[in-house]
Amino acid sequence: MAVLSKSFQEWLSGRRCNELLHPHTCRRAAFENLFRFAWSNSKYYLPVVLLHLGKHSLRSGGANREILLDTLWYYIQLVFGGVMDASLISISMCSLRKFLGKFHFYTLLFIPATFGGAFCALFPKRVKHLQHTAIFQALIESLLLHLNPLSKLLASSVSLQTVIFMVCSAVILEGKQRKWYNGFWFLTPDAPTDPDVPPQRKSCSHSELDCGLYIVRGIRNYLIIGLALDVFRYLVSSSKLNQWSLSHLNFQSTAWLGCYVGLYRAVHCYLQSIPIVNESLKHPFAGCLGGLSYFFYPKLTILSYALLEAIRTLSSKNHKTGESKKNRFGWSDLLFPLSLAYLIHNYVMEEQRVSALSGVIIDSTTANYARNISKRIARLQ
Ligand SMILES: [Zn+2]
Ligand SMILES: [Zn+2]
Repeated sequence: MAVLSKSFQEWLSGRRCNELLHPHTCRRAAFENLFRFAWSNSKYYLPVVLLHLGKHSLRSGGANREILLDTLWYYIQLVFGGVMDASLISISMCSLRKFLGKFHFYTLLFIPATFGGAFCALFPKRVKHLQHTAIFQALIESLLLHLNPLSKLLASSVSLQTVIFMVCSAVILEGKQRKWYNGFWFLTPDAPTDPDVPPQRKSCSHSELDCGLYIVRGIRNYLIIGLALDVFRYLVSSSKLNQWSLSHLNFQSTAWLGCYVGLYRAVHCYLQSIPIVNESLKHPFAGCLGGLSYFFYPKLTILSYALLEAIRTLSSKNHKTGESKKNRFGWSDLLFPLSLAYLIHNYVMEEQRVSALSGVIIDSTTANYARNISKRIARLQ
């Protein structure tokens, strides 16, 4: 459904709030939405905090009181952030309608979403980071799918996607090894080699005496992590759909992670034994070839995340570490409201311009508010 600006003015601009946005009065809608947004955000963020709890419990050898309290606090912060975003956007949609006397193409969703999204800059750092990651990833995926012929070519070519993923993989793993940026990535890089050791005696940095054992251990560990992720995803999607068929359980993440770490470690160990290769190129080259694994598990969602993390890595590298750590605000605080507004506006007005992931994020955090507006517009046109 594409709502053009002209037909919008003709059919929709004179409508009242309770025809287009919500039933009942604006005040009642704002009050009821608080509970609906809180419920939908509680469901949406539950898997995130369970992963957070699992990760920290594994690191500390079990869940203690401190970890449980921190997880609960994180959950409250995430849900509060989601409710704030959705409420500010929905209330400003009503307020703008009242203030301007009618709806306009960009004041219906784009400007309210920009306004609501701007407050994300004030949220706690970890809440902000998670919201930014979800929206930027969804934006990149949407742009890859629908922006121009070049991105359409990319979306249809797995080989081209693999090449881009390989470059991103090299940048991210190098950045993590050199501590430029410490965001989540699927693989932990090998420890850097000791610069004090003379070049002719340099070998791998791992503690295992045998490289084969190191590679096999890596594959085993990441197969277990991949299996846990696949089972977790199966449980989350099955509980949402209330369908528990084992045919929905696939092991793609397991296979991909095993392949990724196997290739990365094998290439890195092999290169360590070749003295003629430049030291500074060995690790990026291993990260790059490890990215070949994408070819066997191509997912635009993963590619979008890789692009986002590669941009963040390069951007962190270019900032002086001390300065960027002190700065609470950055370029992403400006981009976030605009990206959020672009996604919400297009999700309602031209759904085919945004990715499926964008729709899931928008609907899951707003109790289908945007989808319901889209349905009302379709009925009224
Ligand atoms: Zn209203
Ligand atoms: Zn080795």
